[in-house]
Amino acid sequence: VQPVLAVIGRPNVGKSTLVNRIIGRREAVVEDVPGVTRDRIAYDALWNGKAFTVVDTGGWDPDARGLAERIAAQAQVAVQLADVVLFVVDATVGITDADEAVVKILRSAKKPVLLAANKVDDERTELEAASLWNLGLGEPYPVSAMHGRGSGDLLDAVLAAL
Ligand code: GDP
Ligand code: MG
Repeated sequence: VQPVLAVIGRPNVGKSTLVNRIIGRREAVVEDVPGVTRDRIAYDALWNGKAFTVVDTGGWDPDARGLAERIAAQAQVAVQLADVVLFVVDATVGITDADEAVVKILRSAKKPVLLAANKVDDERTELEAASLWNLGLGEPYPVSAMHGRGSGDLLDAVLAAL
């Protein structure tokens, strides 16, 4: 059985784009409209000779009442099935209430967590990524899931944690 990496975070932060980057294929559904990813979808991934399973999450209705609670509930399930959690935040938006709710769950779950600061498409945005230290989850890894910037360093860290 392969170790499982669960990718969690708010709708539209780029989880599915990052999953595609990790698996090196375009199988996870990326949408400009938040909340379209079906519940949880598992993909096989390989990095530096190590095989693991990546689980994409999503499927929340962004207009639903209590979005933060829904995200938190989904995160709870994903965290339970994961060996390592990859928590994705949109660095261009910064920390939201929903992000804070997820952090609470991650703290109590006691699973290894890596923090991806996504949409860091250029050097300028790295400054905004640094503000994610405030989540208290350790070092934010600045990445651009869209362009691939920083994804190698992130995957090296994922492998070390798996
Ligand atoms: P999810 O809801 O978290 O799975 O997010 P998606 O992967 O579906 O992406 C949501 C939107 O963000 C899409 O329009 C993506 O093209 C865009 N996006 C994802 N990653 C990046 C990135 O690194 N940089 C930029 N600029 N946009 C991104
Ligand atoms: Mg998605």
